[in-house]
Amino acid sequence: MLKRLFAIVLLLGSVCYGLDRQKINFPDIEGYKTLKCDFHMHTVISDGQVSPQVRVNEAWLEGLDAISITDHIEYQPNKVYVSTELNRVYDMAKKAVGKKDLILIEGAEMTHNKPKPWHFNCLFINDPEKFRDKNILEQAQECKKQGGLLIWNHPSWKGPENGQWDKPIQQLYELGLLHAIEAANGRHIQPDGVEWAHTKGLAWMGCSDIHSPSGWIYPQVPGHRTISLILAKEKTAESIKEAMLARRTIAWANDMLLGPEKHLREMFNAAVKVGKAKSTDKGLTFELTNNCDVPLKLKHGDNIIDVPANGKVTVKTDKKATAGKIELQYKLTNFIYAPEKSLDVKVVVELDKAKA
Ligand SMILES: [Zn+2]
Ligand SMILES: [Zn+2]
Repeated sequence: MLKRLFAIVLLLGSVCYGLDRQKINFPDIEGYKTLKCDFHMHTVISDGQVSPQVRVNEAWLEGLDAISITDHIEYQPNKVYVSTELNRVYDMAKKAVGKKDLILIEGAEMTHNKPKPWHFNCLFINDPEKFRDKNILEQAQECKKQGGLLIWNHPSWKGPENGQWDKPIQQLYELGLLHAIEAANGRHIQPDGVEWAHTKGLAWMGCSDIHSPSGWIYPQVPGHRTISLILAKEKTAESIKEAMLARRTIAWANDMLLGPEKHLREMFNAAVKVGKAKSTDKGLTFELTNNCDVPLKLKHGDNIIDVPANGKVTVKTDKKATAGKIELQYKLTNFIYAPEKSLDVKVVVELDKAKA
């Protein structure tokens, strides 16, 4: 009895304080591990409200595999209270990671108002202090020199005119200095991010850009932190970098996935399970199971099927068959691979002979 009481108290304690590590559920796809990553967040070193240690612990508790803390280089409003030495962010965070199963990537956010309000995250760098007092091009070159990758953040921020493919952006692109773009920043889909990721071949990123404690946002509104799913050969920083360069990335924001058509299809195929079909006078009936954290919103004409995240539904079609395999075509309306383009998928149904 006492033991049971003790177990209940322990359970309540962990629920109340939210200390159980959560699991973000997306399947691995053939040959790659699906790593859950957030490469854009702030701490008190710039304009965030928490310490680097809190960022590490909340990311670990939320089930992330890799993070980068990306404080602003040019905007540090807390400088009268705290050190603005950017390398300290990484040092403090690294200590907080300790032996936790969490990859920490050093990064910082280049924060410019001229010629336009353009922000870029540089990741995989080793000395953000060297980015001080430089213009965008010089910083992008420094990023490359340090072996880093550059992400164009929230391109549509402060109006769509800022997300245009202007000359300075083209220059970075031509010099091979621009590698990725945010298709989603926080809860906001970035239309220019979607367009340039698709047409210019940049890696698709989804990032939280959190400034307040992560836990303040999501218990109050249903949802999750916006993240990137990185399809990496190994669970290492080096593999994440290779995957970003090869554009094996998908942004997860709200109830949408945004990424290259090929990888969205692989994700759908890995997540969906099609049950054997029964044939009735009215048509075929079968079960669709969804093994991932994003719902599958399928559409065929007026027929809409919504398979909940980690759930299943029974599908009834008027399609008639008595033997063999039947191919059904759907539009997966919440898997986006280009502006206003969602993924076409096929569901192959096999007739259950025993019950036909
Ligand atoms: Zn920014
Ligand atoms: Zn930011």
